[in-house]
Amino acid sequence: MQPNPDSRQQEVIQLLKQVIEPTLKNDIVSLGMVRNLRIVDDYIYLRFYIGSHQHQLHKEIQSVLSSLSWCKKTYIQLCTIPGVKITLAVSSGKGGVGKSTTAVNIAAALKLQGAKVGLLDADVYGPNIPQMLGIGQADIQVIHTPAGEKFLPLEIQGIKLMSVGLLAEPNRPLAWRGPVLHKIITQFLQDVEWGELDYLLIDLPPGTGDAQITIVQESPICGVILVTTPQLVAISDVRRNIHMFRQVGVPVLGIVENMSYLICSDCGSRTPIFGSGGGEKLAAELQAPLLGQIPIDPRICSGGDTGHPIAVTNSTSGAGEVFVQIATALNATFT
Ligand code: ADP
Repeated sequence: MQPNPDSRQQEVIQLLKQVIEPTLKNDIVSLGMVRNLRIVDDYIYLRFYIGSHQHQLHKEIQSVLSSLSWCKKTYIQLCTIPGVKITLAVSSGKGGVGKSTTAVNIAAALKLQGAKVGLLDADVYGPNIPQMLGIGQADIQVIHTPAGEKFLPLEIQGIKLMSVGLLAEPNRPLAWRGPVLHKIITQFLQDVEWGELDYLLIDLPPGTGDAQITIVQESPICGVILVTTPQLVAISDVRRNIHMFRQVGVPVLGIVENMSYLICSDCGSRTPIFGSGGGEKLAAELQAPLLGQIPIDPRICSGGDTGHPIAVTNSTSGAGEVFVQIATALNATFT
């Protein structure tokens, strides 16, 4: 009788669920670290997405799968970004909700708390992180390493930065499509010499197109932070986004609601300009935490334009405090 591939797949998944990631205290399947699991004849193939400090889990996988009497060999493709412990994505359902602002400020807040931080601006449609950190056009250096030629990230305000915007001509749209886009993105994920990083934050393009899917599939993202504005129409865009992460198996770490309210400078009252409740509704639906609600603050906008993130310049302001609080929560989860 032919073996049933589905029951073998289930059997393998159950065994893999016995491998627990010690810091996150969850199994490697639920954490989205195992992807592309295929069983062909009596061979198991899988991709294992890990941070630079998690190599010991590879042996544990080999060990749990060795109990399968039918398996002749397990082929594990290790996918990692050299030197990088934790890779997180920042995503949104659509543009203009403050995704890049959130990515920059969380990166800055993590840096202030002592972490080594890198920021990969992969927003091919609007790569404006260099400007938000105060960099104009800059030449990216390429260095020769034993592993081949690598891009050297820029270092600004203590944060290592690589941006697709730095490869483009100023004021010209990035018109990459299909295979070229795929190639550039995979190069960005594999060919940057980050050095040692505690966190690499990837600012994804908004929505769920080719570029997003390539990045999410090809990188060891261990969680995604979703940014939304409070109105209910924004929430339905985020739902589509979530579907993409779920398909790949990347966990949603939490939701950041941006532009939640405006504080009156005279009386301190809060006005919910864009409605209210969207972030809470989404958090309840996803059973993911609402990491923070960021007020509308003109200093966020001017700081973004001039390269001064509010998490650095006004860390005790309402908005600054939310970013500090998110960085603290991330550190509590991952270290
Ligand atoms: P996205 O990355 O989602 O396209 P951005 O982060 O580029 O959005 O933000 C869009 C614009 O809105 C920027 O000019 C930014 O400075 C501004 N902005 C974002 N969040 C706020 C906020 N809470 N208060 C004031 N301005 C904000």
